[in-house]
Amino acid sequence: MASISEICESTRMAREMALLGNYESATVYYQGVVQQIHRLLQSIQDPSRKLKWQQVQQHIAREYEQVNGITHTLSLFRADSHDSRPIGTSLRASSFEEPTRDPDVWPPPPPRDPDVWPAPTTSEHKQPPQVRPVRGPKKAADSKPPSRNSRSGGGASKRTGGGTSKARREDSKSSDRRAKGGKDDKKTDDKGSEKGADGKEAGAEGGAEDDEEKRFDPSGYDRDLVEMLERDIVQKNPDVRWDDIADLHEAKRLLEEAVVLPMWMPDFFKGIRRPWKGVLMVGPPGTGKTMLAKAVATECGTTFFNVSSSTLTSKYRGESEKLVRLLFEMARFYAPSTIFVDEIDSLCSRRGSETEHEASRRVKSELLMQMDGISSSQDDPGKIVMVLAATNFPWDIDEALRRRLEKRIYIPLPNSNGREALLRINLREVEADPTLDLKVVADQLDGYSGADITNVCRDASMMSMRRKIAGLRPEEIRALPKEELELPVTDHDFSEAIARCNKSVSAADLDKYESWMREFGSS
Ligand code: ADP
Repeated sequence: MASISEICESTRMAREMALLGNYESATVYYQGVVQQIHRLLQSIQDPSRKLKWQQVQQHIAREYEQVNGITHTLSLFRADSHDSRPIGTSLRASSFEEPTRDPDVWPPPPPRDPDVWPAPTTSEHKQPPQVRPVRGPKKAADSKPPSRNSRSGGGASKRTGGGTSKARREDSKSSDRRAKGGKDDKKTDDKGSEKGADGKEAGAEGGAEDDEEKRFDPSGYDRDLVEMLERDIVQKNPDVRWDDIADLHEAKRLLEEAVVLPMWMPDFFKGIRRPWKGVLMVGPPGTGKTMLAKAVATECGTTFFNVSSSTLTSKYRGESEKLVRLLFEMARFYAPSTIFVDEIDSLCSRRGSETEHEASRRVKSELLMQMDGISSSQDDPGKIVMVLAATNFPWDIDEALRRRLEKRIYIPLPNSNGREALLRINLREVEADPTLDLKVVADQLDGYSGADITNVCRDASMMSMRRKIAGLRPEEIRALPKEELELPVTDHDFSEAIARCNKSVSAADLDKYESWMREFGSS
């Protein structure tokens, strides 16, 4: 868990960088703060304390959006200086473009995950560009029922077409840019984004496909809820691959067997071999459970519904059961689908006020009913809906829910090889000093979670810059050439970073997980 002093320090740095006009560094710090608060929130049980931290997180997210806005505007000016188009044209054409980031070190804030990136309060609410749900490989124009080939082929074609994950990221960035290029109607989709040689054509094609795309019909449902689900919960192209996740080979194998294979070999997974109703991932925070869920959705091209239990119980109070019903309804409509329920323990938590408990209880009953319902439709391979849940507090999950989450797998802290792989993934886009020995660094990180290691890498990659600007006045900092700040990361940077970042999981916590898994695990 991130300590409060770490959050304060990162916030201070984020603001300082922003005030100094060093927006890119500020962005990295802001992303870090939001992730740190997200992790802290996962460990807070007291509802009023949780609420306060959620407000802080919203506040920081708003500041981050402002900095992002500035970075974006500046990047447009840069683009315009190489571009003969009038400024206005370019501004309009790419007005929904994301600023460049490293999605591996700091994954782009999922704009539709209200827990990590809370929506601005209504008074300041800026509608994000509306994105309709599109499942990975099953393309919009394909109006036939999903076939085995279309599902598996899509995943594979993405893999072969994508090459390295870096290339894939570039692909998706540029294809997104292309898709967004010609959009005035604020609608975009994956298919549109993969086509077209320039923004305008892509926009036109995307528009044509928009008409053909299978779209959930909101009539008969609460229109606002449908829109909210499509905007905040359906995650378009989570774009996390197995390769992006270090280690966790056993978890990947189990998930593949539990979720991916039934979709690829529907004839085999029938009757007694029917797919599991639900899979529960158990483990300390920051070990990659969310990433695994996203990878499942990406690798087998299912529509990905990303929802956290606290969203279900707190944000849409009164609407929560409706929301759960609609969630499953939409998941069946866009099937094959993966519904990822993060923090599932909070549905069973006995703590909190009576009303909260009541809301959780009702949502939980609805969830149980819906999960029972999906197993009856699992025989139709095209309609598979898989519930993937994650928890840091498995002991809070009651028996009824545990029984539905038939497969329970442990996501441990990374071992020595895993830590080294994590370092490599995190440093993919940072220059490392030739003398840096990642094995040695990995040994020093024993007991750190994946998220802790990402934090250490982020910190280490900032060290040289921090040393460079220490004691300088703002105008001197602004005058520093970029090359002077971008020095290779050394083992000394890592030693300093490790000294600053504590591990977030204690040995006592690990014992608790292991004994729970001995009793209830089923991997
Ligand atoms: P959890 O859901 O278990 O709390 P996440 O999947 O949200 O953890 O991981 C948090 C962050 O930690 C990720 O965004 C990633 O940067 C890093 N991380 C954790 N585990 C891994 C891993 N095995 N491989 C790569 N990155 C990881």
